Amino acid sequence: MNQTNQRIDDLHAKLAEARDSFLGYPVSKDFDYSELFDFLKFPINNLGDPYNDSTYRVQTHDMEREVITFFARLFRADQDDYWGYVTNGGSESNLYGLYIARELYPKAMVYYSESTHYSVKKNIHLLNIPSIVIRSQDNGEIDYEDLKNTLQMNRHKPAIVLSTFGTTMREAKDDVGKIKSILKTLAIQDHYIHCDAALSGSYGPFINPRVPFDLKDGADSISISGHKFIGSPFPAGVILTKRSYRDRISKGISYIGSLDTTITGSRNGHNVLFLWYTIMKMGPAGLKARYEKSLATAEYCQARLQEKGIQAERNPGAITVVLPKVVKAVKEKWQLATEGDITHVVCMPNVSKDDIDRFIDEVELELPESEEAFEFSF
Ligand SMILES: *Cc1c(COP(=O)(O)O)cnc(C)c1O
Repeated sequence: MNQTNQRIDDLHAKLAEARDSFLGYPVSKDFDYSELFDFLKFPINNLGDPYNDSTYRVQTHDMEREVITFFARLFRADQDDYWGYVTNGGSESNLYGLYIARELYPKAMVYYSESTHYSVKKNIHLLNIPSIVIRSQDNGEIDYEDLKNTLQMNRHKPAIVLSTFGTTMREAKDDVGKIKSILKTLAIQDHYIHCDAALSGSYGPFINPRVPFDLKDGADSISISGHKFIGSPFPAGVILTKRSYRDRISKGISYIGSLDTTITGSRNGHNVLFLWYTIMKMGPAGLKARYEKSLATAEYCQARLQEKGIQAERNPGAITVVLPKVVKAVKEKWQLATEGDITHVVCMPNVSKDDIDRFIDEVELELPESEEAFEFSF
């Protein structure tokens, strides 16, 4: 065997091992795209706006529009006024939501909570929009009282509120309905709500009791990650918003014969094909079944930890179990993201009760004195 082949074999073994002891990040690993391998022969590029085919025809725009329609239904968009595209991930989708918001309201202030994903802070910086951080409640949800008071002090300015549906650490869900009613009470007419639903958006409609988050509930745009709950070998995301908003910011580009409405020009067309393939196979019923399986695993995990005397917490309807941080060996083996004093187990659809049992056998809490460096989670 030559050296390159040896390296590939080693990599394969290493990745397989890492994949099979993995509880800390919200990434599904139970996919099989082998039917699509042949498409790796094509230089698929979804250049430009998915609703305006360009002169480059090695693309999957028609499937991309079907993906957008699928999520438009799932997130209850107005059927005559929706638009979106498949991005490189939730971070780009968040950038797009904030970009539209700023184009619509150039003088706006952005409000986001302490528990907001790090991509949002960077995006706000890139877009150069003034912003204010709002307190989070202990469960990770935005503090509506603090939001209301802060908005009130700035009520002469248009408001962009970044709402999170499934925070990174505790999977807390901000209530878009409550945010909308605060804006209404304060009579701030120029407002925009972007909902960052990277993980939980894909099962948001099935959570019982429902937490308001979608376009009908008052969001102006929603972002999700495709490689998290749905699962994909490549990072992917979706941004869904209103066509009328896009129309206000689009500029035609003669070189590609399309509209320059997307953040990147060349776009990953394989990602679109993969995402399309899965959602067509699963449908909303498949997503719901996946959520119910994850929820049952999370309930099991929480109960088993509590039996062991470990303080395990979970937000209502969440598939994420929060616990005090664990010793280094356990953290590294199970690839657990840690923030401050806590860590979490994310019960993605591929996580089995057997995986949880193996983890519970090994789990050991870190003594509170020792200090470990702050670390970013996904
Ligand atoms: C994962 C995540 C993101 C970022 O998504 P990527 O697909 O990793 O770019 C944004 N927001 C939240 C709440 C997330 O959990």
